Amino acid sequence: MGEVTLSGRVQSFLAAGPQPMWIGGAWVPAADGAVLPSLNPATGEPLCQVASAGTEDVDRAVRAARLAFEDGPWPRLTAAQRSAYLYAIADAIEAHAEELAQVESLDNGKPVTAARQADVRKSIAHFRYYAGWPTKITGDTVPVSVPETFAYTLFQPVGVCGQIIPWNYPLLMAAWKLAPALAAGCTMVLKPAEQTPLSALYLARILEGVDLPPGVINVVTGYGETAGAALASHPDVDKIAFTGSTEVGRLILKAAGDSNLKRVSLELGGKSPNIIFADADLEQASLGAADGIFYNMGQDCTAGSRVFVERAVYDRVGAHLADRAAALRLGPGLDEATEIGPLISQEQLQRVEGYVAQGAREGARRLAGGDRPTDPGLRHGYFARPTVFADVRNDMRIAQEEIFGPVVTVIPFQDVDEAIRLGNQTRYGLAAGVWTRDLRKAHRVAAAMRAGTVWVNSYGSGAVEMPFGGFRESGHGREHGFEGIRLYSEVKSVLMNLAGE
Ligand code: NAP
Ligand code: MG
Repeated sequence: MGEVTLSGRVQSFLAAGPQPMWIGGAWVPAADGAVLPSLNPATGEPLCQVASAGTEDVDRAVRAARLAFEDGPWPRLTAAQRSAYLYAIADAIEAHAEELAQVESLDNGKPVTAARQADVRKSIAHFRYYAGWPTKITGDTVPVSVPETFAYTLFQPVGVCGQIIPWNYPLLMAAWKLAPALAAGCTMVLKPAEQTPLSALYLARILEGVDLPPGVINVVTGYGETAGAALASHPDVDKIAFTGSTEVGRLILKAAGDSNLKRVSLELGGKSPNIIFADADLEQASLGAADGIFYNMGQDCTAGSRVFVERAVYDRVGAHLADRAAALRLGPGLDEATEIGPLISQEQLQRVEGYVAQGAREGARRLAGGDRPTDPGLRHGYFARPTVFADVRNDMRIAQEEIFGPVVTVIPFQDVDEAIRLGNQTRYGLAAGVWTRDLRKAHRVAAAMRAGTVWVNSYGSGAVEMPFGGFRESGHGREHGFEGIRLYSEVKSVLMNLAGE
């Protein structure tokens, strides 16, 4: 264990100077030459610069995607040919897996071990899963009530897609967006988050080797208010797929409505309840609850940030969580012993610390964390120690607002009905967890939660085969599985008159 030695390819990538964008099958700088820095969250130091796209660059990328869609070979390939490209992409990522894990860990701050085992591995699996779909997308023949009519449905690609992604799982979110859109036959413009543009650019380099037709995938780096907004309001973009905050989700919906009514799918924030009954395996439940909030430094849209505990075991579970929080090892992502890396940015660190102070003001009792680590080696990074608050009421701000950091609120409940009622008292609805040995209770709670995913006796596992998305203000639409194909397809009805000569 220790600090990973950076691969030579990653070192030369970082040293290469401002990274251009991948547009229309070529590497291009921003039209006005603008760049933005990407920082290393473990040190606060710049890692490298990337192009900062303006409206003109977004236009150029959309034109490239449009040309690829209207005139290029991509939508006209056979399903088997598209499938082969997706398999080739998965293989290419696999061949560069360690480099991608290192880039991701450097740019985002996450432990390189997690980047390898989760982010990169799951990204490969995502492309392999969607590689199987093109040959299995089928319409229906429909027994319509119109006389002498043969009717069928066709799934067709929605067209040019803008895909705007966040910084918490940069490579994996790129995979979630690109793979189903490719399988459906779309062309796309991907905009990674300003804090974490590097893995998407590195992926584009890898994709060069796969020889996709030019313009099928374009990557523009830049700020949300400029590049992101230009994409969302672009009249020639057919669909926007967005993952990020609920606030920006609203802006995207508005931009879509004010421009060309493009399709919109949204994966937004959450404040997910994780409900622990007294009859659960408490050891397993406490560990699961700690992992459910502290994984990825709590920067996860499904983070189980509200842990509800049946009163009889409230103190015991609280103590377990506090022990686990205190035991997690903080450090730079590139150290293989690190369990908790830095937060993404100074801004995010201040946001988290603001909520910790707010919790204290609201009268919550801090059981662990709430401060920065004292290790001088971590002084310049954006580190926050995992924090556990007990004696929290569900109407406190720390229990209602998405903190997006390693802060958990522990709230007591009396019985099943109260657990369901409190759990659902939120404007969000992305996920929920329930821990119990009682099957009836488990199914009752699973059915009652207003949430897109419910885990029973586990928390946070993702399966590409299972639909993923939110109720309420957690979003619109479902990714993964066939739902992911549906998001990138238009369904056409064809009615054919069979009467006459
Ligand atoms: P964000 O602003 O929603 O970022 C998501 C993506 O949207 C980024 O690529 C961002 O670009 C872009 N964007 C920003 N403003 C835009 C606009 N007006 N039009 C189009 N695109 C725009 O999230 P954030 O500022 O990074 O984080 C703020 C909070 O969002 C977090 O504290 C957390 O609560 C939540 N969040 C949720 C998720 C999730 O997975 N549900 C992920 C990340 C953050 P820039 O990078 O340039 O801003
Ligand atoms: Mg960065």
